[in-house]
Amino acid sequence: MIKERTLVVVKPDGVQRSLIGEITGRFERVGLKLVGVKMIVPTKEFIETHYTIDPEWRRITGEKTIKSYKEKGQTPPSEDPLEITGIILNHLKNYMITGPVVAMVWEGVHAVKIVRKLVGSTEPLSSDVGTIRGDYVIDSYQLSDKDGRAVRNLIHASGTVDEANKEIDLWFKKEELIDYKLVQDKILYDVNLDGMLE
Ligand code: ADP
Ligand code: MG
Repeated sequence: MIKERTLVVVKPDGVQRSLIGEITGRFERVGLKLVGVKMIVPTKEFIETHYTIDPEWRRITGEKTIKSYKEKGQTPPSEDPLEITGIILNHLKNYMITGPVVAMVWEGVHAVKIVRKLVGSTEPLSSDVGTIRGDYVIDSYQLSDKDGRAVRNLIHASGTVDEANKEIDLWFKKEELIDYKLVQDKILYDVNLDGMLE
């Protein structure tokens, strides 16, 4: 199996809520390996580059937002996905620069999907119980729209392997990522689990 790497960013609200340890612990206990970590205060330009790294992000996020409004029987702020993401991106640029964020790279088999599963869906109102966004924060598109801000959901996680690779290149230099072994890799990935008994 091919190991993947994925980018996780504890957003400014996650840092302010003192959830760095809790969030990191969730990825550690599932068996993922931390291969890079740093704290920075991003600029607006950097945040725009980060969110538009995937050319499809504007369309997909706009469509996801419209669908979520309609599923709840509500009227979306616009029927145009790109108009919606234009507004969201501006809100994100204000939100993500309000304080330090912690960027991390996690490695393991299926790392991208496993991390997204643990993080939960984008809108905390509908994120599953047991996920980071479901367990630690209350927010909704309805409330964030009313207040004219991005939805506060504690954490960013790459959505696909391709997005992860591009985001990791943006956030980290090659020499900031470390290749090393964890003793638990043997239990997680060894084919025969041999060599345990003396
Ligand atoms: P995710 O972070 O789950 O991958 P997206 O990539 O679709 O979600 O959106 C990026 C971020 O933009 C979200 O995490 C959230 O902070 C914000 N956001 C997305 N959709 C909305 C929305 N409809 N209203 C307010 N903020 C939003
Ligand atoms: Mg995303």
